[in-house]
Amino acid sequence: MIFKDLNIIEPILKALQEEGYTHPTPIQEQAIPILINRKDLLGCAQTGTGKTAAFTIPILQHLYNSKGDSKGKRKIKSLIVTPTRELAIQINESITSYGKYTGLKNVVIFGGVKQGGQTDALRRGTDILVATPGRLLDLISQGFISLQDIKYFVLDEADQMLDMGFIHDIKKIIAKLPFKRQSLFFSATMPPAIAELSSTILKEHERITIKPKQATAEKVEQAVYFVSKPNKTKLLIHLIEENPEASILVFSRTKHGADKIVRLLTKAHIKSAAIHGNKSQGARQRALGNFKKGELNILIATDIAARGIDVEELSLVINYDLPNIPETYVHRIGRTGRAKASGIALSFCNQEEKAYLKDIQKLINQQIPLVEEHPFPLDENEEVPLAPKPSKNQRKKSKRRAEHKPKEGENMSKPKRKKYYPRKRG
Ligand code: AMP
Repeated sequence: MIFKDLNIIEPILKALQEEGYTHPTPIQEQAIPILINRKDLLGCAQTGTGKTAAFTIPILQHLYNSKGDSKGKRKIKSLIVTPTRELAIQINESITSYGKYTGLKNVVIFGGVKQGGQTDALRRGTDILVATPGRLLDLISQGFISLQDIKYFVLDEADQMLDMGFIHDIKKIIAKLPFKRQSLFFSATMPPAIAELSSTILKEHERITIKPKQATAEKVEQAVYFVSKPNKTKLLIHLIEENPEASILVFSRTKHGADKIVRLLTKAHIKSAAIHGNKSQGARQRALGNFKKGELNILIATDIAARGIDVEELSLVINYDLPNIPETYVHRIGRTGRAKASGIALSFCNQEEKAYLKDIQKLINQQIPLVEEHPFPLDENEEVPLAPKPSKNQRKKSKRRAEHKPKEGENMSKPKRKKYYPRKRG
């Protein structure tokens, strides 16, 4: 099937051709006819499947076909709500590309930056608004936005919205929408709370499920390194030096960890930047922009900040820490090996993380090949397992040790270390 077979109008087909899209992805093939027929849609799919084009193309087409309907200042007729600022910016960029020959206007608004530029754009009028929930409600309450002309509403990454605590904001937004509208609801997972939320938004609807698993298994080459915690940075530097041209997205479980990696890389004269929730919006956008343009090769990200980020030509994903939620691994490695490109995902695993690795392998139903030959193999004496939380008494003892104050008759010998032997994998 090609895009023309989906009854897409010429101005959009031309833009898609310029983007280099020849064939629709499975979600596009299934969703576009449903949406062109003005039905509501529940899409169980994550980024990387081509879902942005799947929902923006029909919206652009409807708006283009009814362009003559309204006169005067453009009213917001389509609202797309998404959890993160990065994703909002990315969706807006996609609309600009796919809609470049339609004459339609789109604006993006998100928090963490001054509102002046955004309210100026809104004053000039727009057909499509892409927004994060907080800033949207803020600008509605200030009278800059009215939702009364909305005909197409998209709630993107609903499960992420719930995780980030946006559920009340979403309910407030839904309450302001006109009853007569077409609604689209996307979520990577469908736990009961999400299914319930979808039922409050959608009327009679169609459902599409796109499984990301095959994409992971087929397109992304994966490998795991057993390495001690203190040696992870050395191994990272080694891999960066071995791949000087590569665009590398490094995942850290924590914000603090991400900053620390940047500091250690800077010491080794390697330029990198971190994106996470504690960084200002300006710093996040700058880092991401430079990474996308290829001016910055190494980006360190936490899971929330990276979710939905779409970087063309991303050649390598490195899991500096393994995630404790196995689905997160799938999200992470889905950053590489996008629509057409094939990618590589390398994971660092220390002794404590071996249980996480086991869960991940179970979820993806495959053994991740182990790299046995590398300069920093996990030394059997190097790591001790996570000890159970010390008791009050033990804490006192270790304090005395640290202060060199042995209790009378107390033995100050070093605690014994346990030995570990990494399991070999074929
Ligand atoms: P998304 O899931 O919307 O984030 O899209 C993932 C990536 O696939 C983006 O880089 C899109 O530009 C790209 N893409 C979307 N649809 C197609 C298509 N039909 N052919 C080639 N690339 C596509």
